[in-house]
Amino acid sequence: MDDKNKKGGLRKRLILNNIAPILVMGIVTTFFVYIIFNKAMTEEMEDKLHAVAASAAVSLDLAYPGDYGIRVINEEEYVLQKGNKDLDEGLAIITRLKEETSVDLTLFCKDVRQISTIQDKSGKTIDGTVVNKAISDAVILEGREMFYDNADLGGEEYFACYYPIFNSNGEVFAMISAGRTTTQMRQELIFKSLPVIGISLVMMLLAVLASTMLASEFSQVIDKEKNFLEAVAGGNLRADLDARILGRKDELGEIGKFMISVQKYIRDMIEKDALTKVYTRRIGEAKIKAVRENALEYGTHFCIAMGDIDFFKKFNDEYGHDCGDLVLSETAAVFNRMMFGNGFAVRWGGEEFILIFDNMEIDEALAKLSDIRKAVIDNAVEYEGELLTITMTFGLISGDDRIIDKQIKDVDDLLYEGKTGGRNRIVYKKDDEMHSISE
Ligand code: GH3
Ligand code: MG
Ligand code: MG
Repeated sequence: MDDKNKKGGLRKRLILNNIAPILVMGIVTTFFVYIIFNKAMTEEMEDKLHAVAASAAVSLDLAYPGDYGIRVINEEEYVLQKGNKDLDEGLAIITRLKEETSVDLTLFCKDVRQISTIQDKSGKTIDGTVVNKAISDAVILEGREMFYDNADLGGEEYFACYYPIFNSNGEVFAMISAGRTTTQMRQELIFKSLPVIGISLVMMLLAVLASTMLASEFSQVIDKEKNFLEAVAGGNLRADLDARILGRKDELGEIGKFMISVQKYIRDMIEKDALTKVYTRRIGEAKIKAVRENALEYGTHFCIAMGDIDFFKKFNDEYGHDCGDLVLSETAAVFNRMMFGNGFAVRWGGEEFILIFDNMEIDEALAKLSDIRKAVIDNAVEYEGELLTITMTFGLISGDDRIIDKQIKDVDDLLYEGKTGGRNRIVYKKDDEMHSISE
């Protein structure tokens, strides 16, 4: 598989997994809607055909009261009569009913068609033809009303009702069929079920659209997380992950946060000193150079402080190396806490640190550094039940455009001044004048 296929794979699968059930559901729904409508319409059609056949019988009864019978003309010919009258107006009556109801009507004498609104395909009336035996047995002999959904009349398929008409002696002498072509029925069925099927199709489409959008969104997030991991795996420990992903309340958001933690963990492991958790000198130098370049580019200010723990050797000598380590880590913890949002700390050498106050002028940096110096004193380290007070001496300068090495040399000189001037103080330069504060 090439890269391109791999990329779209998850998205495609997500979309397919989402829309397949929707499509199946849509098809099943449409099918059932069709079945239910078909059943309802069939029942409705039966009622209608029965009503039209019955009203045809009533209309004929009103026009020609009395029983059905025949007037024989000769051995082969006869005329259907009702109330001893030829049914001269019969066709007119059923034709009028057809116009009102769109239902075709046929009047039978026994099983023979006598008058009908139906014409065969060649345009001839279907009078004189005989209905099939099953129908005639059920309707004429047994007097039952029958429905068929596939009666063939004049070459056309009909949905038909066969309605028996009883003479006063109880004999079925005539019957009326009322029918509609199944093509018409089907058209009506489609017409009536169309809105429901249409709505279900639109809903299906919306569901497909929504799930496609959701799947796309998921795959985009996953893609971004993958790209982020790829960058981290490629050594970019400062790669960014879209903040919107981190703001998500779902598992993808959580994964994003975990990945950022892992990145930070790896970055800290590489960039920070194991004991003090502040930047190593190697990383620190690069970061200080970047701060200087940034300040030059944007015309901002920064300050450099260098601090050294006073009489540190004493902790090692009197309490052991472990105690020295503890003093270092506790002191650095104060830096990390108090430099947050102000800049960063670097372990420059054994018990010597550089603090960079980014985006800050000397007065503000001095105030913050004073707080830090006091916090280190206040943060007495407890070692084997003894509280050890730590003091530090700092040098502080305002950063300028000279190369960093020169600036660090200056701040180192100020630190030296502090050490020789009595320690536990800040020696700083402002307007080219040296000042010292130790309270
Ligand atoms: P000053 O006030 O003049 O700075 O005196 P000091 O004793 O602090 O200075 P000195 O440079 O004489 O001592 C620094 C000591 O720090 C020497 C070194 O053995 C110790 N040191 C350096 N790195 C570590 C470390 O990681 N752990 C421990 N425990 N000691 C360290
Ligand atoms: Mg020292
Ligand atoms: Mg030192």
